[in-house]
Amino acid sequence: MALIVMKFGGTSMAGIERIRGVAARVKREIEAGNRVAVVVSAMAGETDRLVGFCREASPLADPAEYDVVVASGEQVTSGLLAIVLQSIGVPARSWLGWQLPVHTSDAHGKARIRDVGTDALLAAMNAGEVAVIPGFQGMAESGRVTTLGRGGSDTSAVAVAAALKADRCDIYTDVEGVFTTDPRIVPRARKLARITYEEMLELASVGAKVLQTRSVELAMKEKVRVQVLSSFTDAPGTLVVDEDEIVEQELIAGVAYDRNEAKVTIRGVPDKPGVVAAIFGPLADAGINVDMIVQNVANDGTTDVTFTVPRTELIRARSVLEANSATIGYAQLLTDDSVVKVSVVGVGMKSHAGVAVTMFRALADRGINVQAITTSEIKISVLIAEEYLELAVRVLHTAYGLDAAA
Ligand code: ADP
Ligand code: ASP
Ligand code: MG
Repeated sequence: MALIVMKFGGTSMAGIERIRGVAARVKREIEAGNRVAVVVSAMAGETDRLVGFCREASPLADPAEYDVVVASGEQVTSGLLAIVLQSIGVPARSWLGWQLPVHTSDAHGKARIRDVGTDALLAAMNAGEVAVIPGFQGMAESGRVTTLGRGGSDTSAVAVAAALKADRCDIYTDVEGVFTTDPRIVPRARKLARITYEEMLELASVGAKVLQTRSVELAMKEKVRVQVLSSFTDAPGTLVVDEDEIVEQELIAGVAYDRNEAKVTIRGVPDKPGVVAAIFGPLADAGINVDMIVQNVANDGTTDVTFTVPRTELIRARSVLEANSATIGYAQLLTDDSVVKVSVVGVGMKSHAGVAVTMFRALADRGINVQAITTSEIKISVLIAEEYLELAVRVLHTAYGLDAAA
């Protein structure tokens, strides 16, 4: 008899008929003799709708009240799933974030989980009751409701699995697993039977939203056995594993993209020590993450600095830089929010040369201009114009030999 955490995403919970489908899957695990905790997302589109209400109410909504509003989507689906389970003869009850409790930091809107209370949960599960837990929500030390950042139900599920020392954490979603790239953009993307934690972490952090980055980080640290699979079919999914559990390592695991990028170019800054600190210091103080950075030095003692920030932070970044224009001393400030980042990820890069060249050639052959580059040991990212996004992802997928057989 195993202890299993099952997590169902927004598409899987969108409406009572789908929730009945989820309940049937949960019942199957119970009938197989397992103990089950279920973590649920809000119905697809619901969190966006709630975020929209907050923005409409005030562009500078109080983050603590924002959390009260956006956490409600998961409260609804957890109650509904418990009701449907009971209606098919499966004892179940919901456990809200503050009831377990899921203790988090007090960073509203992007809180981090500290620990998950398991006593009541285990007692209920041992008595044969399914525990239904709303994902995405927790409670700060102050007692107030927090949320974990978009896509955070994955992290809730992994944290619950780690706390319960679960045998498995099954993430049910609207695709059949982790693919070599987003199957909605490249129909010839291949499903991976296995992927390493390291590659999954890198893919998630460069935009593959199939798992939230922090969920992978946590799974890697706590050694949680994560599987990604479909809510709608019985096809085998993707197992996230250690490197030594993969027999034949591919050079490239996958291609990912991120639309949440905007480019800032600061022209004509004096080329002297301290100038980059003058630019990035105030941005860091404002909590704005800078991602890619390129610096070009001209002959006249000035330099141009180009970098990217999350698109959602561009307006704030611009106002921070304008407020500091005197200390930075630039000639011109330019911004562009029609750029995207495309990345290739693979542990094979550690031991193979020429991976970057393949990428640059494939893009050049299609006339796609590279505006910035960043690399890590197992990743290369380029910044390109948004209009080329789909073409670039498809071309790279083919260039690295990832296409499924026709
Ligand atoms: P959920 O609501 O179940 O959490 P998400 O929308 O957060 O689902 O994540 C699943 C989506 O991730 C898929 O529908 C797919 O479009 C996208 N995706 C992006 N990259 C990948 C990838 N490499 N493999 C699978 N899905 C991917
Ligand atoms: N409902 C939240 C979101 O849409 C959390 C999640 O679904 O993972 O971001
Ligand atoms: Mg998700």
